[in-house]
Amino acid sequence: MRIGVLALQGDVAEHVRAVREPRVEALPVKNVEDLARVDGLVIPGGESTTVMKLLDRFQLAEPIARRVREGMPLWGTCMGMIVIARDVTGAQQPTLDLMDISVRRNAFGRQNESAEVSLAISALGDKPFPAVFIRAPWVERAGRAVETLGERDGHAVMVRQENVLATSFHPELTGDRRVHEYFIRMVRDALVGKRRKIA
Ligand code: GLN
Repeated sequence: MRIGVLALQGDVAEHVRAVREPRVEALPVKNVEDLARVDGLVIPGGESTTVMKLLDRFQLAEPIARRVREGMPLWGTCMGMIVIARDVTGAQQPTLDLMDISVRRNAFGRQNESAEVSLAISALGDKPFPAVFIRAPWVERAGRAVETLGERDGHAVMVRQENVLATSFHPELTGDRRVHEYFIRMVRDALVGKRRKIA
């Protein structure tokens, strides 16, 4: 299994390290050739307006959207959540529109630009998850197909719609790998489903 980490800007190395395990190869994705080689893709944290421009320049926006619509699992953290969203509240910012959510950028306020918060996320088990927020967005609106997996102060910060996962926080910055393991399972399930369809 090969999982790609979009490597145009942002905290790529941390995700590559966290995704890697004995049976999972992690590949930085910089172009369409790289994209064609991966079974799942992570869009890391960074700066969303910059990355949208780079996705256009490297002609990756459309190919990523096509793969995701065909079933490839996608996970966005922080900036990645913004890039995946349908739209950004209060801004005319382009996005890939791959999940039926509206997000608010830098939503937790200035005094709270960065924080580690312990979150109860039942999809990850009983132990709370140490969630690191850095100028993080929250989900302002979610469509019916979107499942909320985690909340902070009543705002959704971990959401899933079929093969697309988004977290406001940065699991790659803590030693706790449970969100990475959750995404690896999504990729494994997608591969099994694909094989079944072919057989
Ligand atoms: N504030 C950034 C943005 O709006 C996201 C921050 C992050 O990814 N850590 O693009």
